[in-house]
Amino acid sequence: MKIEELNQELSRRMLESKYAHKRPVFSQGQPNAKIALVGEAPGGEEEKAGQPFVGKAGKNLTEFLMSINLSRDEVYITNAVKLRPSKPSPKTGKELNRTPSADEIKFFAPYLHRELEIIAPKYIVTLGNVPLRAVSGLDLRIGDCHGRLVSGNGYENIFALYHPAAIIYNQALKDVYASDLEKLCELMRSKNGK
Ligand code: URA
Repeated sequence: MKIEELNQELSRRMLESKYAHKRPVFSQGQPNAKIALVGEAPGGEEEKAGQPFVGKAGKNLTEFLMSINLSRDEVYITNAVKLRPSKPSPKTGKELNRTPSADEIKFFAPYLHRELEIIAPKYIVTLGNVPLRAVSGLDLRIGDCHGRLVSGNGYENIFALYHPAAIIYNQALKDVYASDLEKLCELMRSKNGK
C-alpha cells in the first residue's frame, strides 16, 4: 500500500468519526527516506497550510536538520495525531492549540504504525513525549531517553529527541538538543545510515 492510499483511508475513517469536522494534516517528504521524524500533532499554522511543521516549531526543526546536513526533502515528516487538537480561549473564544487527548492518540495510532511500516525508515526520530510513547507503546519520558536509541512495539530504531518547540520555551535545552543531534549524526555515520 502507498502512503496516499493510507491517507485516503484515514480521511474516510475521520469523516465517519467524531473528528469529521477536523481537517487532517498528513505527512510530508520522501517515502524512501532513511529517517522518519514523528511530531506530536499539527498546530494552527499547520492546519491552515495542510502541512506538518510549517510554523515556529517547524522553523526550528528545519534549522536543526540543516545543522546535521539534512534538508526537509531528505526526510519523512509526520505526526502521531493528524488533526489539530484545539480548545477555545476562555477570554477570546479563539481556538488555541492543546496537547492531544488519549482518545485522539488512540484513534490515530494504527495509522501511525501502518505508515511507519510502509516507510520502513532506518531511524524513527520521535519529537517529544507524545510521539515517543505513541511509537514505542511504552510509558517513557523524554527526559530519561533523549539522545539515544529506544526499543518498543517491535521497533528497535527509535531515536528520542525533545520536541523542537521545547527549545522555544526553554533556551537551556538548546545545547542538549545540539548534542543529541550530534549523536544521531554519529549513529547514521557509524552505520552508514544516511
Ligand atoms: N508541532 C508538532 O508536533 N507537529 C507539527 O506539525 C507542528 C508543531
